[in-house]
Amino acid sequence: MSEQYDVIVIGAGPAGYPAAIRAGQNKLKVACIDGWKNYDGSYAFGGTCLNAGCIPSKALLESSELYHRAQHEFELHGIKLKGVEFDVAAMQSRKSKIVKSSTQGIAALLKGAGVNALVGHGKLLKAEGGVNKVEYTDKEGKVQVLSATHVVLASGSVPTELKSLPFDGKDIIDSWGALELSAVPKRLGVIGAGVIGLELGSVWNRLGAQVTVLEALDSFLPMADQAVSAEALKNFKKQGLDVKLGAKVSAATKGKDGVTLKYTDASGEQSLVVDKVVVAIGRRPFTTNLLAEGSGVELDERGFVKVDHECRTGMANVWAVGDLVRGPMLAHKGKEEGVVVADLIAGKHAEVNYNIIPSVIYTAPEIAWVGQTEQQVKQSGRAYKVGSFPFMASGRARAMEAAVGFCKMISAVDTDEVLGVHIIGPMAGELIGEAVLAMEYSASTEDFQRTIHAHPTLSEAVHEAALAADKIAIDFPNR
Ligand code: FAD
Ligand code: AMP
Repeated sequence: MSEQYDVIVIGAGPAGYPAAIRAGQNKLKVACIDGWKNYDGSYAFGGTCLNAGCIPSKALLESSELYHRAQHEFELHGIKLKGVEFDVAAMQSRKSKIVKSSTQGIAALLKGAGVNALVGHGKLLKAEGGVNKVEYTDKEGKVQVLSATHVVLASGSVPTELKSLPFDGKDIIDSWGALELSAVPKRLGVIGAGVIGLELGSVWNRLGAQVTVLEALDSFLPMADQAVSAEALKNFKKQGLDVKLGAKVSAATKGKDGVTLKYTDASGEQSLVVDKVVVAIGRRPFTTNLLAEGSGVELDERGFVKVDHECRTGMANVWAVGDLVRGPMLAHKGKEEGVVVADLIAGKHAEVNYNIIPSVIYTAPEIAWVGQTEQQVKQSGRAYKVGSFPFMASGRARAMEAAVGFCKMISAVDTDEVLGVHIIGPMAGELIGEAVLAMEYSASTEDFQRTIHAHPTLSEAVHEAALAADKIAIDFPNR
C-alpha cells in the first residue's frame, strides 16, 4: 500500500512551505515535495524567493546601496573615506550565506511542524476511488506513488524567455543569472522595466555598469500611481539608469564587440551594443511535468492553473496557490494563499483579501503601495480626496539625508474610507505596513489623523498625508 497523507504539497516556495507548515500545525499528516536545484547541484527548499528572487536580490541591493552611499553620501555626514572599493566576490559570498541559512531554516521549520520534507519531483496523477495520488521521484530517481486526501499544487513560476533572444546562460541571462554575476559588466542591457528589471538594473548601475533599460510600453510602471511612477522615473534617470520607453526589443546578435540588440521605438529601428543582457519581461506559471494525463486539473489560456477565490481547482480536494495561479506574482500573496488553504482543509474559516495586497519595489527611493491608484479611483467614478506629504518636509528624512519622494493617501469623500496609500521614499516598504493593517480594518482618513505617530519618524509622512487629505496638515502648507 502506498503511503497515505492528509495533505501533500508540491513545491516548497513561499506559497508551498507555509501551506505545509500550517497543515502540520493543524495536526494533519503532511508531506512537502520540492526539487529546486541550485547552480552548484545542491538541493534547497524555499523556491524562487529564497534561492533566486526576493532574498538574494535584497542582499545585493543592500550591498550596492551601501557602496553608493559610501561614495556619494558619507561626505555629507562629515565622514571622509579614502579609496572606497568593492569586491563582487565578497558581496556574492555574503549573499550566498544569507540564502543558505534561509533555506536551511525552511527545512528546519518544516521538520519542526512535523512535515515530511521530501527532496525530488512531484506529479499529480489521476485520482483513484476518490483518493488523490502523487508520483514522487526522489534524487536518486526512485519512483513511489503516494496517496493523499488533499493535494496543494505550489510549483511557482519561471522567467519568460523572449523567443528572439533565447537565454544562453552567459551573455543573455535571466534574473537568476543577473544575481550570480561574478564581475560588473561594462554595458548592461535590461529588457523590461518591471519590478525585477529595475531592481537588478539598480544593483549593477550602482556598482558601475552602464545600464540601459528597454521597455516596450510607452508608460513607466503603469501599475503604480502615476504621480509615483513619474517621481520614480525622474530619480532613476538622475541615478544614471538610461530608461528607454516605447522600445520593443526584437532580436540580438552576438559578436566580438558584445551583444547587439535590435529594437524599435517611435523613431524606427534602433540598435544598442551591450556586454550582457538581462531579459526581465515577466514570469510564467511552471506546470512542466506537474500534471499527469487524467489528473483533470485545468489551465487557463495563459497557462495558470484555474482556481476559484478559495484556490480550489476543479478537481476534488486539489488546490493551487502562489505564482501558479492568477493574481500578482508576489511571495506574500502566495504565503497567504498557502496558509488559508491549509486552514480551509482543516475546516477552519479563512479567506484571502485580494484587495489589500501591498506591492513594494526595493529600489532607492523605495516604492510601496496598497489599494487603488488615483487613476483607478477616478475611473470608478467615486468622489475622492487626496492628501500628499513630501519627505522633504520630514525632519527624520532630512536627518537621514533621504528627503526624496512623498506619501499620498486617497480616500472616499462619502465615507472617509482610505482607498489607497502610495509611498515613494525612504523605507517605503516598511511604512506601507501601517496602511495595510489600517485598510484591512477599513480605516478612515480620520483614523489615521487621530493616531499618534512618534516624532521624529518617517511614519509621520503617512499621518501628515492623512491630514493633508482634509487640508489640515501641520508640517506642510495645505493646498
Ligand atoms: P516558487 O518560489 O517559484 O517555488 C516553487 C517551488 O516548487 C520551487 O522550489 C520549484 O523548484 C518547486 N517545484 C516546481 N515544480 C515542482 C515539482 N513538480 N515537484 C517538486 N517541486 C517542484 N516577490 C516578493 O513578494 N517580493 C520581492 O521582493 C520579490 N523579489 C523577487 C526578485 C526576483 C529576482 C524574482 C525572480 C522574484 C521576486 N519575487 C518577489 C517574486 C517571488 O519570488 C515569487 O512570487 C514567489 O517565489 C512565488 O512563490 P511560489 O511558492 O508560488 O513559487
Ligand atoms: P513585469 O512583468 O512586471 O516583470 O515586467 C516586464 C516588462 O517587460 C513589462 O513592462 C513589459 O512591457 C516588458 N517587455 C515585454 N516584452 C518586451 C520586449 N520585447 N522589449 C522590451 N520590453 C518588453
